[in-house]
Amino acid sequence: RYRYEVMADHKKIGIMGGTFNPIHFGHLLLAETAFHQFNLDEILIMPTKNPYYKKISNSVTEEDRVAMVELAIEDNVHFQLSKEELNREGTTYTVETLSHLTVKHPGYEYYFIMGADSLYHIESWKDPEKILEMATIVVAGRAGTGTSLSSQIEYIENKYDATIYRLNSPVLEISSNDIRRRVRDGESIRYLLPSKVVDYIYGHNLYQPDPPEEVQKENE
Ligand code: NAP
Repeated sequence: RYRYEVMADHKKIGIMGGTFNPIHFGHLLLAETAFHQFNLDEILIMPTKNPYYKKISNSVTEEDRVAMVELAIEDNVHFQLSKEELNREGTTYTVETLSHLTVKHPGYEYYFIMGADSLYHIESWKDPEKILEMATIVVAGRAGTGTSLSSQIEYIENKYDATIYRLNSPVLEISSNDIRRRVRDGESIRYLLPSKVVDYIYGHNLYQPDPPEEVQKENE
């Protein structure tokens, strides 16, 4: 009976954390690939609080970022919005997020999904050794990260006795930063992110500091 209870409480949960300003097909593809490649039970899409290491433009609120995530994932039953970090006070470190989740669900196994850049920076995060102990890292390559990513994986695995897997995913060179720039410069963002998120961005005038003037200029 005991064994049955332990088994019943076992789940494999993916965590896709990010600023998501805005969420785009790059993020969604990573989460979807991880879900299938590692037979996960669900993926938590977890927006960060406005983080200390990145300045978020004042015009985009946490509510906007959450609303865009909700629109982006509404058609995927495996994805769930997690406000775990948004609901906490102060700076939210990944190590604390994982500790909270582990206390809440001791039987769950966590897979933390990240891009290659994050794996290069993980040693500057708070308590990387604990992060690597509490979660399996799933990393996605980006163009040009081939061999150097493999050596970074090997380095981190050896140093921390960790397990890191690579995602078998096509590389989509989409970045939130580029999407914001495109909106500012009046370029198209269609097909880079779900159309409902595109509509939200224009409907709420996000990333457009001074739209009326821009329109004026274009008409001159
Ligand atoms: P982000 O810029 O919003 O991106 C989220 C993740 O998706 C990143 O790992 C990013 O990889 C990846 N990504 C984005 N577009 C991609 C694409 N087209 N193809 C492949 N990968 C893509 O998020 P972030 O600010 O880096 O934060 C990610 C997570 O790390 C969050 O949960 C945050 O809390 C955590 N974090 C924790 C600490 C800490 O505990 N001290 C410090 C920093 C971050 P790239 O990195 O390659 O862009």
